[in-house]
Amino acid sequence: MAELRPTILLVEDEPEIRRFLRTSLGSEGFRVVESATGRRGSIDAATHKPDVAIVDLGLPDMDGIAVISNIRSWSPMPIIVLSARVLERGKIEAFEAGADDYVTKPFGIGELVARIRVALRHAVRLRNGERVLLLDDASIDLEKRRVLRGGAEIRLTPIEFRLVAVLARHAGRVVTHRQLLREVWGPTHENDTHYLRIYVKQLRDKLESDPANPRHFVTELGVGYRLELAE
Ligand code: CA
Repeated sequence: MAELRPTILLVEDEPEIRRFLRTSLGSEGFRVVESATGRRGSIDAATHKPDVAIVDLGLPDMDGIAVISNIRSWSPMPIIVLSARVLERGKIEAFEAGADDYVTKPFGIGELVARIRVALRHAVRLRNGERVLLLDDASIDLEKRRVLRGGAEIRLTPIEFRLVAVLARHAGRVVTHRQLLREVWGPTHENDTHYLRIYVKQLRDKLESDPANPRHFVTELGVGYRLELAE
């Protein structure tokens, strides 16, 4: 189910960085589209419609700032700058052009992946035009990581929260067991389907009015799960 993997557009002229990110982001469950120039990146942003764009500022044909402005002129997609420019002014310029986040080279892959996940959570909100996910009598604020049910705060574990966030990104659509396990627990747990049974049950107990007959955390037998939001 390749189409369920979040797509990352990488606009970067250094082949070694591209190779490194292709491998490391690939193993984190992302699909990576690579563009070696600014012009190519602007075109690929439009044709591939990535979930997140990562843009280097020092590109051979044009400044990365121009690529950001270009994408921002037609799309709200999250844009993360990946640059060796450490000066405050360069960062401000990038944010003013429409970048959402800024990672300085040299960078740690863990940090970059964390920023990508934050950007994806943010994008869910943008897509729905809502700050929160609404279930029957519960609301989940993905940004503040706060869950309320009937006015009372419900605590979700970090794993439960990640599971909700992944399901929310594909709300209304089935997400396969493999995809969920990969995105929440990592690629080495792709076959640990029992994790899902345990955690989905916990989420139903915490968030469904009738956990035995779930309306929101829906099982697609043998395939995966689907999150249905309140109408
Ligand atoms: Ca560069």
